[in-house]
Amino acid sequence: MSMTDPDCLFCKIVAGDIPTAKVLETDDVLVFRDITPQAPVHLLAVPMRHIRSMADMGPDDSNLLGDLIGAANEAAGASGLGERGYRMASNVGEEAGQTVLHLHLHIMGGAPLGPLAMTDHLDRTP
Ligand code: AMP
Ligand code: ZN
Repeated sequence: MSMTDPDCLFCKIVAGDIPTAKVLETDDVLVFRDITPQAPVHLLAVPMRHIRSMADMGPDDSNLLGDLIGAANEAAGASGLGERGYRMASNVGEEAGQTVLHLHLHIMGGAPLGPLAMTDHLDRTP
């Protein structure tokens, strides 16, 4: 897998080809504001290098995963969420609703967030 995908939206944001509201930048991770926020604070933490989703991560990526979560925590704290609490979530694949195929951690907070998923529509019959 190459480090960047020329057709990938978040690779273009990382490269600076598409403008974004940056919150935090480290050597390996960029945190920026989600363009369609679903909470008062809604940030995205992405690795600089192109990885499709968490499904493509494993033991070799433990450093990057730690960096990603560390940057997400720092950005959450800088956005005033540290004491209040926040949610981190990462969609993997179609049924989870992943629309951008470059790994991203959603960081959401600033209000009570309610249940993790909308499950009313699910058929629970065994
Ligand atoms: P997901 O549905 O989990 O793949 O999340 C993709 C997220 O990327 C959505 O919450 C979008 O609002 C967000 N998004 C799409 N385009 C941009 C952009 N240009 N800048 C910031 N966030 C974006
Ligand atoms: Zn990418």
